[in-house]
Amino acid sequence: MKPDTACIHAARDNTTSTGTVAVPIYQSATFAHPGVGQSTGYDYSRSQNPTREHAEKLVAALEGGFGALAFSTGMAAIATLMELFSPGDEIIATDDLYGGSIRLFDNLSKKNGLVIHYIDTSDLSQAEPLLSPKTKALFIESPTNPMMKVTDISAAKKLIAGRDILLICDNTFLTPYFCNPIALGADIIVHSGTKYLAGHNDTLCGFLVAANAALDERLRFIQKTSGAVLSPFDAFLVTRGIKTLALRMEKAQQNAAAIANWLRTQPKVTKVYFVGLPDHEGYEISTRQARGFGSMISFTVDSEETARAVLERVKLILFAESLGGVESLITYPVTQTHADVPEADRLARGIDEKLLRLSVGIESAEDLIADLAQALG
Ligand SMILES: *Cc1c(COP(=O)(O)O)cnc(C)c1O
Repeated sequence: MKPDTACIHAARDNTTSTGTVAVPIYQSATFAHPGVGQSTGYDYSRSQNPTREHAEKLVAALEGGFGALAFSTGMAAIATLMELFSPGDEIIATDDLYGGSIRLFDNLSKKNGLVIHYIDTSDLSQAEPLLSPKTKALFIESPTNPMMKVTDISAAKKLIAGRDILLICDNTFLTPYFCNPIALGADIIVHSGTKYLAGHNDTLCGFLVAANAALDERLRFIQKTSGAVLSPFDAFLVTRGIKTLALRMEKAQQNAAAIANWLRTQPKVTKVYFVGLPDHEGYEISTRQARGFGSMISFTVDSEETARAVLERVKLILFAESLGGVESLITYPVTQTHADVPEADRLARGIDEKLLRLSVGIESAEDLIADLAQALG
């Protein structure tokens, strides 16, 4: 089944005999047992719920994983994932991670005794000297947020081959429609389903996808124990969102390419970061490991005043956090997504007062460019 077909048909509902085309919302906390020691397969919705299970099967199929687990948010998924590790374990992570992941690692994981080494994983030679028997995971995000750096996933796998190290990949930006990290060697995939998967800026959700049965079982035990599961209604919404994932990803990417090329011609724009530009440093790796570049653009302008003016003047594009929805959103990483990252770290990564991040939606590219043109003044 091709990815666009899979988005719609990969997890047909098999819980009813009604012929329902849309998955029913099983708004039930608990399920009655047919007899002592018997179960319908569902006991209590924290353990499993048919609507959530449907969303999980769909995402597992799209990613080519053994199984997927659906969470109330992307951060709940990552927090659950971190329970795989014990005090003293070391994790090597991309330095330009989603700001919330850095906040989790620095404030909760470190407190729990984990050691996190941040490196630029687009240059894997930086990981090599850090590898030790204590290293338990390599956590990558590609492309990164907001600097759009690309990590070579197969090369990352090669680097840790033969060691007891999990390759974890946050695939939120590309989604399974454009990239399948498990096929490239990842052991666990992370998704903020809030973004492209749900796709309409109306639902929070997260997923973990496990490459094998043993990891799936360990993660399910932690999920059932800690409890940050996705509700039946939100599972329905993300399932519905995924039905149009292919169309949305293609249109948003097409818009992003048009906008990135236009931004480059603007006198007040000093740099454009978009993986789909052939001179982007990650372009070549990206064409090898993904079927698309996504629709996230970061760009710098000539001054902080221009950056602030753009945020205040956009009309069609909304000045809001988040990404991956049908609506185009513009973000100011300095005060929003990366507000909690220490200033020195932030500046070292190029996240300064002149940087803006654009999540391109599926409106008309012409209208979006007209809005940016008036906002840039
Ligand atoms: C948003 C995001 C998260 C966190 O997901 P929430 O659903 O907001 O909790 C994690 N990783 C990436 C790349 C994200 O964009």
